[in-house]
Amino acid sequence: MKDTKNRNRIPRTLLYYYSIAVLAIIIFNWLLMPMFMSRETKTTTYSDFLSAVESGNVQQVYFTDTEINYTLEKKGEIQYCKTGIVENPQLPQLLKEKGVSYGAEIPEKPNLLMSIFLNYGIPILIFSLIGRQIRKNMSTRMGAAGLNIHGQGVAKVYTPDKEKKTFEDVAGQEEAKESLQEIIDYLNKPEKYKEIGAECPKGVLLVGPPGTGKTLMAKAVAGEADVPFFSISGSEFVEMFVGRGAAKVRELFEQANKQAPCIVFIDEIDTIGKKRDSQFSTNDEREQTLNQLLTEMDGFEGNKGVIILAATNRPEVLDPALLRPGRFDRQVRVELPDLIGREAILNVHLKKVRVEKNVDVNLIARMTAGASGAQLANIVNEAALRAVRMGSNQVSTSDLMESVEVIIAGAERKNAILSEEEKRIVAYHEIGHALVAAKQTGSAPVQKITIVPRTSGALGYTMQVEEEEKTLISKEDAYQKLEVLCGGRAAEEVVFNIATTGASNDIERATDIARNMVTRYGMSETFGMMALQTGGNNYLGNQGQMTCSSETARLVDEEVRDIIAEAYKNAKEVLEENREKMDEIADYLIDRETITGKEFMDILEKKSA
Ligand code: ADP
Ligand code: MG
Ligand code: ZN
Repeated sequence: MKDTKNRNRIPRTLLYYYSIAVLAIIIFNWLLMPMFMSRETKTTTYSDFLSAVESGNVQQVYFTDTEINYTLEKKGEIQYCKTGIVENPQLPQLLKEKGVSYGAEIPEKPNLLMSIFLNYGIPILIFSLIGRQIRKNMSTRMGAAGLNIHGQGVAKVYTPDKEKKTFEDVAGQEEAKESLQEIIDYLNKPEKYKEIGAECPKGVLLVGPPGTGKTLMAKAVAGEADVPFFSISGSEFVEMFVGRGAAKVRELFEQANKQAPCIVFIDEIDTIGKKRDSQFSTNDEREQTLNQLLTEMDGFEGNKGVIILAATNRPEVLDPALLRPGRFDRQVRVELPDLIGREAILNVHLKKVRVEKNVDVNLIARMTAGASGAQLANIVNEAALRAVRMGSNQVSTSDLMESVEVIIAGAERKNAILSEEEKRIVAYHEIGHALVAAKQTGSAPVQKITIVPRTSGALGYTMQVEEEEKTLISKEDAYQKLEVLCGGRAAEEVVFNIATTGASNDIERATDIARNMVTRYGMSETFGMMALQTGGNNYLGNQGQMTCSSETARLVDEEVRDIIAEAYKNAKEVLEENREKMDEIADYLIDRETITGKEFMDILEKKSA
């Protein structure tokens, strides 16, 4: 763990550089140096030394504390020799006689310290100087690019002219726009606020499910305010600047301060802003980056004009320190669009494609309850693609409807082969859903029934479209939904007396609804207003944890089972009462494979002959 971090910390080029430097020093010392000073010193005995002096071959002698060094002339060649010291008072006398010069120092041969310095010190010095230069070049290259538009610096400067977004591009989300409008206003006319002494919020956190337009909104704020806009995503921080996250935060804010007034946008802030207390995976790097961010946010003055926007779809994992006043003290919710919002978003995106006159945008909006802005944008694009495929030069309502189905249920599987018997079962299953729904009061009308298989694996489906958006769901609504979901399997049982795998998705959804009724919405007899589940992410749809004893959990299971069983019983009753109608509609459906809600209702309401 530590290892990888350190390896990552040194840029690769530097690593190469250092290994080459070390190699060069080694080669220099082992191969070249001896060649330069090829005066290897030969060790001789003292008697050899004496006889050499006596025979007049010795030229110079130098004494050190521990040895005698001398040069020997042999056939015109000079040899360096040394020998140990032996107590010999006559030696100086002898040397004088032979005319040998002697002393206590070795001028040609550097001492140990000196030679280490020469052999290692100087090359290391040279290499480290070059190394520092390289490192400096590299970091200036990174740092300078830091806030440039090109390259991968700390943050991308968003260039308004290139893909300028304004609030007009963001449909719906009126509340969010209103909150942000204030910030835009502040950036445009700070004096107005300073006069009164109002401080602009330092940080604004955009919170909402994926695809609701948080990133888009941030860009639009920049477009509206017309100030420099630094944008970086949290994950980029962690990934791009391994080991340097904290430093980069500092640099980012330095730059931002210079450019004030400006906006800094940190997308997906949860990647660096997770709660710091998790015992499982401690990530020093991320923690340091976060700490630096907190410090920086405290550091700059509120009225300097640097405003930090951040976006996340996991607000519950954010460190509380990030959310306290003076940091991200303002939260702007960017929720999934309601009916009006969806219609507006569809209109924004439909403007970009050629559309038929009188496209029923409202119908499409009603068909797409729960869809995010990104999904709606996708639906429009799919519809345009389909129009081209169909050889048309403009998008029609049916293109849009088909693409809604593609997004919801997957594309039609034209070559899926169902046997006649299977087709009959699927038809009755779907009619079961539709009939139960039709017999309820207040349930959404059936829009379409189809038994054309889809790539998602659905063999058919029944589409219900609400007339109006429902935000509050009553206990009765929930029960009705359960009955409709049970209708499919109930039809299988009533008509064929079998159970098929086709109901698996219905079962899953029914169980989900029933469980939530008991554990979250206080809709059960036994538990009443008792919350049995906490946490969970509202936006990403993961379930929270049961907060009850296992004994209670068992009771919850029983209650859930009873609720579903009750709904199933009711659904079955409805179908048994309308057995003949079922057959009639089934014949019709098997014949056509897809029928509209109107056709369905016509047969249902027709007095049987
Ligand atoms: P988020 O950041 O919330 O996940 P994005 O801002 O990336 O979502 O949105 C993705 C795309 O969805 C946008 O580029 C835009 O085309 C579309 N979109 C989302 N919300 C809206 C909206 N309110 N109005 C118009 N288009 C939207
Ligand atoms: Mg985003
Ligand atoms: Zn079903």
